[in-house]
Amino acid sequence: MSVCSLPEDAEDLLLHVCCGPCAIWPLESLTASRPNLRLLLWFYNPNVQPLGEFQRRRDSLAYLVAKLGGYNASLGVDFSPPYDPQTFLALAAQTPIAPERCFNCYSLRLKAAARAAKEKGVKYFSTTLLFSRQQNQELIIKAGREAELPGVTFYEEDFRLGWKKGRAAAKDLGLYAQKYCGCVYGAVETG
Ligand code: SF4
Repeated sequence: MSVCSLPEDAEDLLLHVCCGPCAIWPLESLTASRPNLRLLLWFYNPNVQPLGEFQRRRDSLAYLVAKLGGYNASLGVDFSPPYDPQTFLALAAQTPIAPERCFNCYSLRLKAAARAAKEKGVKYFSTTLLFSRQQNQELIIKAGREAELPGVTFYEEDFRLGWKKGRAAAKDLGLYAQKYCGCVYGAVETG
């Protein structure tokens, strides 16, 4: 099912991860099509409120990585990016209405991901946001392309093609499933 279009000689990729459930299928797809690819899972989500919700999503990724131990020797995970909701809230206050707010939310995270990739010498970056049917894929891709830096390229794949398998695997693993997108605005809109 994978439609991986990463160049054959791609050696590494920084994958921005929003939560554990959304990471399962992208990991499956990327490692199946490029078994030697070095993957760094990178967790930066200042858009998530409140702190307890952020912690649950972070813990779901940590649990998933622990479960996958040995699955891919080239798999790393980085939880060091700070939780700085003030950065997101200041941005959202300027454009509180979707979809502009969501575009800026994607952009904030993907620009940070591109900078992290650059610092680490990683040539490609992508995001598990591309797995979710609830997200605006067109805007995610636009934000990803705009975030590119010299020598750091955004990789886009329609991870939604693995939606059913990814969701079923997350359920089997008992991963925490969030009820809203992440921010307080989204929580209100979800009702
Ligand atoms: S609804 Fe989701 S994508 Fe949109 S701003 Fe809030 S957290 Fe970000």
